[in-house]
Amino acid sequence: MFFSFFLLFLFYPTCFQARRTPLETTTITTVDHHNSTWHEFENLLDTSKGSHVSGISEVKKYLQRFGYLKFSNTSSSDKFDNEFEVAVTRYQRKLGLTVTGNLDYETISQMTLPRCGMRDTLPPLKFHAIQHYNYFKGKPRWSRAIPTTLTYAFSPNYIVSNLKLSDIKVTFRQAFSRWSAVIPLNFTETEDYGFSDIKIGFYSGDHDDGEPFDGVLGVLAHGFSPESGKLHLDAAETWAVDFESEKSGVAIDLESVATHEIGHVLGLAHSFVKESVMYPSLKPREKKLDLKVDDIEGIQELYGSNPKFNMESLSQSDTSSSNNGVDSKIEQRLSRLSLIVAMLLIMFITFDA
Ligand SMILES: [Zn+2]
Ligand SMILES: [Zn+2]
Repeated sequence: MFFSFFLLFLFYPTCFQARRTPLETTTITTVDHHNSTWHEFENLLDTSKGSHVSGISEVKKYLQRFGYLKFSNTSSSDKFDNEFEVAVTRYQRKLGLTVTGNLDYETISQMTLPRCGMRDTLPPLKFHAIQHYNYFKGKPRWSRAIPTTLTYAFSPNYIVSNLKLSDIKVTFRQAFSRWSAVIPLNFTETEDYGFSDIKIGFYSGDHDDGEPFDGVLGVLAHGFSPESGKLHLDAAETWAVDFESEKSGVAIDLESVATHEIGHVLGLAHSFVKESVMYPSLKPREKKLDLKVDDIEGIQELYGSNPKFNMESLSQSDTSSSNNGVDSKIEQRLSRLSLIVAMLLIMFITFDA
């Protein structure tokens, strides 16, 4: 009898461990708004058509920057006019928010999230348009014969100091491998920056490509459509390869952003499936690594499938969180094992008694 309790005690912690949530689950409830523009947005809560509130012109700039509002002679005014309401409505519909046409809490919150600097493709004003992957105008892709290998290199001059170059390289290797697993493209690093297909660098502020970076948070990075190969990250961000060692509340996961920007470099524009890697925003300390069905269908329409890839094998990890699916499978097995052991022990104890 004592032996039975001893065994139960021995296995009990396993039962708990097996039910723990995956290690990479992150909960972010607060965001430090270091950028004054994003902070000002909060003063505009619940404004609607007809109002005239200081700061609306800043939201107009935001909506112009990301492709929702055309420049006009009312762009600099703080009036919530008809055009602006249409733009807000389009933004809400595109980002999967509740469509109110007002600057409500959900909309303002979405605007304050850090995001990719690439414009969103202008949405049609249809009410039931299907939200999925998108392409750049003209649907450009790397045009060389498939299968092929693209080279990538890191700028020798534009790199960040808070991370080791070796860590950055490992991170990008992993990010590239997510795409090469699903399409017949390989990626290989080269030291020859000048001749590499994909050129990666960390830049500050205006860096001569018409898409200036804006300091901490706000715009995080951008990746240009094929066959430009430019992939730029905002050097002002607190880039992290490991949240265990990087505790900053504004830390941004480099691998998640790298995976997203590689999607652009290959020809995908923003998707508005919230779970997809190609969704435009990413919270600080959030990880979004696994390609979702939407990302995969989008990229395979451009390049075809990697012969080794099987979409059906994905369904498991596609429904799991930001994990790679392996952890959750191990956990399921452990959970089942623990259950069997616990049942055996209960039977043993019952018979023993
Ligand atoms: Zn993007
Ligand atoms: Zn740039």
